[in-house]
Amino acid sequence: MSSELSKHLQQPRKRRGFLLLISSPSGAGKTSLSRRLVADHADLALSISATTRPARPGEEHEREYYFVSSQEFDEMEGRGEFLEWANVHEHRYGTPKTPVMAALDLGKDVLFDIDWQGAKQIADNAREDSVRVFILPPSMAELSRRLYARAQDSVPVIEGRLRRAYDEIAQWGLYDYVLVNEDYDRAYADVAHIYHAERLRRDRQGWVAPFVQGLMAEKVV
Ligand code: 5GP
Repeated sequence: MSSELSKHLQQPRKRRGFLLLISSPSGAGKTSLSRRLVADHADLALSISATTRPARPGEEHEREYYFVSSQEFDEMEGRGEFLEWANVHEHRYGTPKTPVMAALDLGKDVLFDIDWQGAKQIADNAREDSVRVFILPPSMAELSRRLYARAQDSVPVIEGRLRRAYDEIAQWGLYDYVLVNEDYDRAYADVAHIYHAERLRRDRQGWVAPFVQGLMAEKVV
């Protein structure tokens, strides 16, 4: 992916957006937390990934993912259209570059629901502009219960996801924030607090310097 993303982030804009990278094992609640955070915040855009995995019941092309064939994925990759991509659960998943750049141009932040490999690739290229959040399940038994209750995948697929959950969880140390999704509303409040606090970081608020100049110029004593 090179430093194209970090160069893009450094362009002068009224508001310098940042990259919110959320990872978790499958079934820990990352997708519904991410979608709700985006729905509640007009300044936050969701990065929609391309994937070679088939759509699950209820999923829509261009809403959950761009569902593409293996050949289409190869072509996109060949044209350099991905910021990062990774093999996950025997399918390929990639982050298209153009919508991310366009959202940053509009002064938005961008949320990525991606696995640890993708989060690492993006953060390695844009460290100062990345915030990484890892969501843990309360227990492996609960994770398994949720995956079966969701009933979106076959038993072998669920077993594969559970096996991979151990590898994903092993990467928690790469993240800036870690939370346990035991109670959904509590976990949502935690994610929203992280987002709000990160938006208030000094270096993300370009308007502060001129505002302070204005304060200094205002003589009241
Ligand atoms: P699922 O098949 O359950 O939708 O996603 C499987 C895993 O792939 C999840 O951990 C999800 O976060 C991750 N994933 C989704 N999109 C991307 C992407 O564009 N890049 C990477 N590296 N992982 C992704």
